[in-house]
Amino acid sequence: MKISSYAAGAWYQSPAEGSLVRDAVYGEPIALVSSEGLDFAEMVRYAREVGGPNLRRYTFHERAAMLRALAQYLQERKEAFYALSYKTGATRYDSWFDIDGGIGTFFSYSSLARRELPNERFLLEDDPLPLSKGGSFLGRHLLVPKEGVAVHINAFNFPVWGMLEKLAPGLIAGVPAIVKPATQTAYLTEAVFRAMLESGILPEGAIQLICGGIGDLFDHLNEQDSVTFTGSASTGQKLKAHPSLVAHSVPFNMEADSLNCAILGRTVEPGDPEFGLFVKEVAREMTVKAGQKCTAIRRVLVPREKSEAVLEALKQELGKTRLGDPSREEVQMGPLVGANQRADVQSVVEALKARGCELAWEGSRELLGGDFEKGGFMPPTLLYSPKPWDSGAHDLEPFGPVATLMPYESLEEAIALARRGKGSLVGSVVTHNLEEARTLFFGLATHHGRLLFLNRDNAKESTGHGSPLPLLLHGGPGRAGAGEELGGVRGVKHYMQRCAVQADPTTLMALSQEYVRGARLKEDIVHPFRKYFEELEIGESLLTHRRTVTEADIVNFANVTGDYFYAHVDEIGARDSIFGKRVAHGYFLISAAAGLFVSPAPGPVLANYGLENLRFIEPVGIGDTIQARLTVKSKTAKDPRPGERPTGVVTWAVEITNQEGKTVALYDILTLVARRPEPAPVA
Ligand code: NDP
Repeated sequence: MKISSYAAGAWYQSPAEGSLVRDAVYGEPIALVSSEGLDFAEMVRYAREVGGPNLRRYTFHERAAMLRALAQYLQERKEAFYALSYKTGATRYDSWFDIDGGIGTFFSYSSLARRELPNERFLLEDDPLPLSKGGSFLGRHLLVPKEGVAVHINAFNFPVWGMLEKLAPGLIAGVPAIVKPATQTAYLTEAVFRAMLESGILPEGAIQLICGGIGDLFDHLNEQDSVTFTGSASTGQKLKAHPSLVAHSVPFNMEADSLNCAILGRTVEPGDPEFGLFVKEVAREMTVKAGQKCTAIRRVLVPREKSEAVLEALKQELGKTRLGDPSREEVQMGPLVGANQRADVQSVVEALKARGCELAWEGSRELLGGDFEKGGFMPPTLLYSPKPWDSGAHDLEPFGPVATLMPYESLEEAIALARRGKGSLVGSVVTHNLEEARTLFFGLATHHGRLLFLNRDNAKESTGHGSPLPLLLHGGPGRAGAGEELGGVRGVKHYMQRCAVQADPTTLMALSQEYVRGARLKEDIVHPFRKYFEELEIGESLLTHRRTVTEADIVNFANVTGDYFYAHVDEIGARDSIFGKRVAHGYFLISAAAGLFVSPAPGPVLANYGLENLRFIEPVGIGDTIQARLTVKSKTAKDPRPGERPTGVVTWAVEITNQEGKTVALYDILTLVARRPEPAPVA
């Protein structure tokens, strides 16, 4: 089978023979991969001129809806991907991380975008920053989608998740992508890509695919483009230094191999739940995907006096691993991606032996199906470094089912050894002792992108050491590549340009589509609560009538709520308080303000469902007079569910002032407002 690329709106099959890819289980030829003859300049042009404008036409929420529809489409077809995934050496459990994990990332980013991003084409960051005494000059960060292409270069170990986890944040941001999977498992990536395309959900030009080499692609990239890379540090470093990327300052996000560690706390005893959890976690990390995971545990750090016990328990646990054809249900570990990869890993194991590591245990070569020699089979292999400071395990990465156990004497030594990895994607600390957890956190945090603290309280629901999650950062310092992927909205911002805008409040409001204090307001004779969502304008405002606060108000409010705090009801206590007198309850002020600005009769405002950013600024005493200003701050149209009434969220800025014009309280309220009904059709 010849694998195709998808370029400039058409499938392309190279006339060249290409590289032969073999099935990981039996070593049978499975695919030929070549990109020779592809017009890479045309791909970049097509992404910029067709894909980019097509995607940017939509809002974050509209793109989120596409991602969700795509995830559903892939979900319905996933069995076909599972069938293909066995050929890469993955068991069903391994493929679950790759296939369901990838689809889950699309679902996650879709919900995240609808929850945390506005229904807009640009993004606001932080609050407006005052830059002058008089308030006429402010600053704010606005982010817009980059007008280029995102090039995603993926590793062989996660052919589906690797593509989808990089696509999700970029597509939400509105940036088209060119995906380049690793040759060895490109046939699975191509199948999923083909399904995405067939769905017809994404606009034309949003995604393209290169199966094979990238030719002169980098020569055509410029300052609006970006490259994200997952793979070996050596390839990453080489690509990052490409003259064209350097000349145009093209951002290069790198996620490379890392020598992740797991540390067993000093306080953990062999009978403790944490002891068993540690052993299970290490064994799982060594065997899932046959250890071909950038996040897998490679260095196992245990207190010296417990190293014997841990070694024994690990041998027992690893000994249960049944090796063989991953499509068979009883098989727990499949082969590496190919015989070449096994040769690579074995040569690293030999190098480790030459650098202070002893072979502590090796699993059986017995197979339940599969061809040991022609396939990429390798049994789990446990090494032991009695002198951890002289161990090669801090430098060499065996990208397979291999880990090295090392003893440590003190927590300080455990931290220092962990840091010898020179930066990791993830580390695990297994302890139930909080002091130990704190010490290890502050010792390890600078050298890790993610840290898992595992103990009896979270084990049942823990997502485990090796799983990157869409909402959490994936990436690590130093050797791990110093990149950042995922991490919720952070991942989306990677594909956007941040621009610091300096302007007066009215201009800033017009640019950001969000009311800024001090901006020119619009007032109307019609109460804003009597208007439909579409009729409300940002900056539209209502100044209410006034109300004088009486002692009866305070006492009544105290009686209704049962809040008899001394500053409100105790004349003597209040005199000694920071206010020097009795003051109204803050919550009374908010309630009284609602009484001032609400238009009570039924109308388009359906519900008040939240209050944000509340600050009480000045106290209000008996006899003070308050007044409220209600201003439309922002609007977000909601996607109606089938049968649901169309609505939108309107955020109102509320300012309560006193008789001297001083601000007493500031906050935002969130309301659900009906959309204007469609006019009835003319009969
Ligand atoms: P590579 O770094 O060789 O390849 C990673 C990706 O880069 C692949 O898509 C590959 O494509 C591509 N690539 C390689 N050379 C070039 C080039 N000159 N120009 C453009 N693209 C290029 O890693 P491998 O996948 O071969 O794995 C090798 C080692 O990397 C592993 O043994 C392991 O140590 C580490 N690794 C780390 C991973 C991680 O997640 N951090 C994941 C996988 C591997 P192609 O396949 O076509 O060469």
